[in-house]
Amino acid sequence: MDRLIYLDNAATTPVKKVVLEEMLPYFGEAYANPSALYRFAGEATDAVDKARDQAAALIGAKPEEIYFTGGGSESDNWAIKAAAQAYASKGKHIITSRVEHHAVLHTCEYLQKQGFEVTYLGVDEDGRVSLEELKAAIRPDTILISVMAANNEIGTVQPVEKIGKIARDAGVLFHTDAVQAYGHIPVHVDEMNIDMLSASGHKLNGPKGTGILYIRKGVKIRSFIHGGAQERRRRAGTLNVPGIVGFGKAAQLARETLAQRAAAQEKLRDHLIRRTLAEIPYARLNGSRTDRLPNNANFCFRFIEGESMLILLDQLGICASSGSACTSGALDPSHVLLAIGLPHEIAHGSLRLTLSEDTTEEEIDYVVDELKKIIARLRDMSPLYEDFIKNQ
Ligand SMILES: *Cc1c(COP(=O)(O)O)cnc(C)c1O
Repeated sequence: MDRLIYLDNAATTPVKKVVLEEMLPYFGEAYANPSALYRFAGEATDAVDKARDQAAALIGAKPEEIYFTGGGSESDNWAIKAAAQAYASKGKHIITSRVEHHAVLHTCEYLQKQGFEVTYLGVDEDGRVSLEELKAAIRPDTILISVMAANNEIGTVQPVEKIGKIARDAGVLFHTDAVQAYGHIPVHVDEMNIDMLSASGHKLNGPKGTGILYIRKGVKIRSFIHGGAQERRRRAGTLNVPGIVGFGKAAQLARETLAQRAAAQEKLRDHLIRRTLAEIPYARLNGSRTDRLPNNANFCFRFIEGESMLILLDQLGICASSGSACTSGALDPSHVLLAIGLPHEIAHGSLRLTLSEDTTEEEIDYVVDELKKIIARLRDMSPLYEDFIKNQ
């Protein structure tokens, strides 16, 4: 392949070189188990402590409120299942939204089979939950509200602060899946009244298979993985020291560069959106124009199959996605696009492009130029498009 243009940063990101370098000693000479008491383990213990500080600082948390996990999916599962169990004596009602990641949705479906009741909040055409609907859904037996901070497909940022306030006023626990938000937009657990927060290392230039669950002090969540006494007896298992160190370093870098990175990406994102909507007919932008992740663009092109577009883009070395990585390959259109009210035939023609801080304007222009040709070519072969044009 001559050229690689990677525009799938919502699916995963590369580990930064400095992050990798920070991790390497803990695969090698500093291999001690941080639970050990001898001095040789001190270096690993210190490294984990430092990473916990770094992970906490990004969201205004205390280090002792950070629990390292095996990734975003584990954190979501832990938060929701453990909250359900811990608060079941108070009630068995959970509120979430229809646009959550499957790590949340499938966990909720699992709990429904265990006798819990789940309300799935609808969203408006931009993918935002309604605060009125949320307030109306809260009942005396509601024990948990889980609404994501930002959507992984259409990039819509939820009114997290307002949701947190509503949850706090009602005395209900609030969990947010912040995997797409953590390190990308400002998130503060106190200002936003967040009780639990999930984040993942590989979505912010850290290693795959690493994550955190933030648990506010006082929330009575128990262990999800039983075994040793690691992570304040709440998450057993020998610590993944290199992974944790990588997570911490990635969080530190993300914190230092957040504002300038977001501004630069927003500029390129808007250039991409402007050109695409102006130059490609029958295109629409999915998700909010304003409350949107800085690096996300998601379009639907009428009369086009998402998969055909991806294959032709791939032949040019352009990595993009249609729906989320988990649903690509499935024939069902994205649950998020259906939730914002798109009909099946339009939801099928979606394309998500997610930028990184290394994405250049030249790359964006190349992608739009090629996309124009690809879409024209695919429409030329489409009987539906032919009928549509005839009937114009
Ligand atoms: C990627 C992602 C997850 C899953 O995180 P993993 O670390 O891959 O398990 C959960 N929620 C959202 C919003 C995501 O984008």
